[in-house]
Amino acid sequence: MTHAGRQAALEAVATEIRSCTGCRLHQTRTLAVPGEGSPDTEVVFVGEGPGFNEDRQGRPFVGRAGGLLTKLLATLRWRREDVFITNIVKCRPPENRDPEPDEVAACAPFLRRQLEILDPALVVTLGRHSLGRFMPGARISQVHGTYTPVDPAPGVSGALAFALYHPAAALRTPEIERTSYRDVAGIPAALLEARARRERSAAAVALDETVTVAVAADADADVAPAALVAAPEGDRSEPDFTLF
Ligand code: URA
Repeated sequence: MTHAGRQAALEAVATEIRSCTGCRLHQTRTLAVPGEGSPDTEVVFVGEGPGFNEDRQGRPFVGRAGGLLTKLLATLRWRREDVFITNIVKCRPPENRDPEPDEVAACAPFLRRQLEILDPALVVTLGRHSLGRFMPGARISQVHGTYTPVDPAPGVSGALAFALYHPAAALRTPEIERTSYRDVAGIPAALLEARARRERSAAAVALDETVTVAVAADADADVAPAALVAAPEGDRSEPDFTLF
């Protein structure tokens, strides 16, 4: 998809989110908060749900927690507009309570579509609700600052998920804030690893296709084509080797 195509597709999702009545949260919201950022980014940050300021402005992470997120990004020399920032639920839960499972489920198709459009190499989870979607079963106290292949259920494939504490938790607890600065420093290495994995799997797919085409083209020939040199012995009609 082109830049313009991704931008238009994200805007179409945002328009639907702004008029969504799919769960009870629409009754108490001021504005829905679809998310914002670069349509071309490789990195998507996913928080929990809008708070008071976000609900008023219709933009993610614009309150105190957002201020800290912006500072954490700045330590990498990244700006908010270089990444995409969104949430698990797009409307503010009253009194900032945790989103209910049925609210998360109602909003999940929007996040899925955003992720399918952006196809990020790296998803950075902010807090335990987001962590639960991308690394099911993981505990934030154990996995913060680390990454793992993302669970494909929320709509991303072939990406890594990197866990951060929620910035609001960091604002409440100085030790978590110090830890968050250390954790964020690990993001660039995670992105490099995410890119390398994608390149490896693209190369494996390309080689697999080359071999398949070569086998088909050479079915009646006496001499094996060069692309088959690496093919396993045995049934060459089903090449099953990978590059890694
Ligand atoms: N907390 C979140 O999880 N998301 C926001 O957008 C703001 C605060």
